[in-house]
Parts: sequence; C-alpha cells; structure tokens
Amino acid sequence: MNEMLKGRKSQIVTKGQDDVAIACGKASIAGSVSQRACVFCGSRVVLYPIADALHLIHGPVGCAAYTWDIRGSLSSGPQLHRLSFTTDLKEKEVVFGGETRLYNALISLIDNYKPKAAFVYATCIVGVIGDDMEAVCRRVTREKGIDVIPLMSEGFNGTKKDGYKIACAALSKLIGTDQTSVVPEHSINILGDFNLAGELWMLAEYYRRMGVNMVACMTGDGRIDDVRKAHKAKLNVVQCSGSMTYLAKDMEDKYGIPFMKVSYFGIEDMSDALYEVARFFKSDEMMQKARELVREELSKLLPELQKYRAQLEGKKAAIYVGGAFKAISLVKALRLLGMKTVVVGSQTGNQDDYNLLKELCDEGTIIVDDSNPNELSEFVKQTGANLFIGGVKERPIAFKLGLGFCDHNHERKEALAGYEGMLNFAKEVHASVCSPVWKFMK
Ligand code: SF4
Repeated sequence: MNEMLKGRKSQIVTKGQDDVAIACGKASIAGSVSQRACVFCGSRVVLYPIADALHLIHGPVGCAAYTWDIRGSLSSGPQLHRLSFTTDLKEKEVVFGGETRLYNALISLIDNYKPKAAFVYATCIVGVIGDDMEAVCRRVTREKGIDVIPLMSEGFNGTKKDGYKIACAALSKLIGTDQTSVVPEHSINILGDFNLAGELWMLAEYYRRMGVNMVACMTGDGRIDDVRKAHKAKLNVVQCSGSMTYLAKDMEDKYGIPFMKVSYFGIEDMSDALYEVARFFKSDEMMQKARELVREELSKLLPELQKYRAQLEGKKAAIYVGGAFKAISLVKALRLLGMKTVVVGSQTGNQDDYNLLKELCDEGTIIVDDSNPNELSEFVKQTGANLFIGGVKERPIAFKLGLGFCDHNHERKEALAGYEGMLNFAKEVHASVCSPVWKFMK
C-alpha cells in the first residue's frame, strides 16, 4: 500500500503473511489523522450516561458541542446527562483566567438543576491557561454540599484511553461512600455497558431471570447513589474492557471484588456472559436457569437468523471499532451469518485482544491498530469488502466507496446486544449488504 506512513507499518499485520506481534497502545503518529478521539472525549463518553449528574465542560463551546448527546444512552429517569453545559471560554478568560466563570457556572447550574453530583471536565485550553479547577471544585463542594469532581482531561494530554482512566478515577472517588445500603447475596455490577438503545435493560432482565441482582451499572442508565454503593457487589462483570478495566482493577485492589471480562454481542459471547456469572456464584440452580434462558431465546432466534444467512453467505466484512473486545464478538457474530471478516481493527486494543483476533480470523485478514481513513479505504478496496462496521467517522468511508455500512458505535439508536440485538444486527447487515442501491454504484 503506497499511501501508508512508514511509522505505521508495525501496527498492521496480515494473518498468514506477517509472523510478528502487532504494535499497539502507542500514541498516534503525526500526520496519520487517527480515528481516535481526544482525552476529554474519552472521559466524557464514559461518564455521559450518569443521568442525575451535572456534566460541565470547562472550555470553549466547540468542545461541548462536539460531545453533546454523544451516546444513544437511554435513561429510565432523569435526562440531565443529555445537556452539554459549558463555561464557553473566550479570549478574555484565556488572558485573565476562567476560574470565576467556572465558579459562577457551577453555582448557577447546581441551584437550577439540583444534581446528585457534578463532573467538571478540563479541555485543552484549561491546561494551557492553568486554571486551578481542583480548587474551584473543592470550594463548590463545601458550599453546596454535593460532590463536585474535577477531571483533568485536557484533550492534548495523552490518548482517548487516558480519558477512560481519568473517568474511572472519578467514579472511584464516589464508590464506597454509601456504607449503609444492604444488597442481596447474588449481586453484581455491570461495568462498561452504556445502555445504548436500552441494551442494559435487556441484560439486567436476563440476569434477573437467573436470580442475579444488579447493584450498579457503570455507567448506562447510571445514578450517583448506585455508584456510591457499588463496592457491595460480589462481582464486577466488565463489558467494554478498553474503558472499564481500570476501574475493575481498582475495585479489586480496594474492596477485593473480582472481575470477569464478557461481551454481550453475538449468541456465543452473550450466552457465555450468563454461564460465567452462574459459575462464579457456584449455583446449580442459577446455571439451570441460565441454560433454560439460552434455550428459550435461541429457539426463537435461530430460525430467524437462517433466513438472513441464506443471502449473506460468503459476503465479506471490514470492522473498525473503538475497543478490540467488541471486534472479537463481531467476527464471531458475522461468522454465524455466513460472512467472512477481511479487515478488523480498533482504536484502543491491547496485545491480548489482537492475539485473540489473530487466532480467530481467517488467513489473509488484515488486522490494524489505530488506523486512519486513508488506510481503511485502501484495505476495503484491496479486500473487496461488502460491508463496513464502524462508527460515525467510518460511515463516510463506506458510503464514498459504495458499500454497506452498519453503525456499531456509541451514537447508535438500535440495540445490538443480547439475543434480540443479534436479530437486529442480522436485519441491519442484511438490509445494508443486500440493498439494491449498490448496483447503481460504479
Ligand atoms: S482536542 Fe482539545 S479542543 Fe479539541 S475537543 Fe478535545 S479538549 Fe476540546
């Protein structure tokens, strides 16, 4: 590929051709136009679904607009998370400082919206002008009697992954602050589900049918009071491992709560997520209920999937998503539909994720870390993919090249997790790949 930057070579491997481990976890190289978002965005997407908290962006209005309503996360109650408040820093504050403006904004918003807690996000310019955000947050915490938590998430200060860590540290400050609540014996926390299109509600219902109680979800349909008592759960079930493993490890160290990584995408991984929890609690009754649930769901789902498989058999897919764990589930889910993955990559995957992907994929599959539009377009052309699975930044690549697209990112409005989600996924893939519109593309 002629367009590839030399420094990117080690982050691209082809199964069966390159017998080296892929390089990953590195800062994006200059000029690459990485698909990754900034540190601030990383923090914002993790905490966004906490619906009864105030989210205030200390920075220019552009940073706030960029992350306004950034996820399709649903709330069963308050909707405060959907508002993107900002201190709207301008030239005057850049010269004279924005601390007074931040203080006034916090006081006014807390008085108006009565949030349970507040998260204040630092953006690039705050790091440059050096506002003492922590001091302002301490003062408002004292005066208003609620937790006002600063996130030092200046956009330039690392990668999106660093933003995840900062968000996890903010959650960690709240966890353990409720010592009085009592939770049932078989209790878990779900980490890394963001309740996109109501997915959390489906998952919580599966666990409820098995006799498992959910103390807190961090952060889908999140509530501050649930986060405070999350240390009472017996197990952390981590879905978006890229963003939430930091918190799971922190809770293991502080409270001795073990964690397991799962995925809720595709039949195989969804079922394993239920069985693994039953195994953890060493309950035969729970395992029995999990088996019954899986049997019941599959008896409805499999005949439906067959209809789509008949037309999708042999089609090729390219996948580029945020976390590699999701990519692994997608490869399996596509296989179930008779499709072959020819390109797969992620923004934030680690070595273990990529090793697993390499094991799972067919010979000739291109595996890529921290890619860019130029590379992705080339890979799609080279491999003749019929479908691109990605997010808002990958959609134009697919449409410009004239191939089907499936949105599997955090903005989506369609539930793709669980058994119901697998059927939605099959329908969406089928509608996109088999659309008659492609025959008009040259
Ligand atoms: S990179 Fe900086 S300026 Fe751009 S959105 Fe992120 S915080 Fe805002």
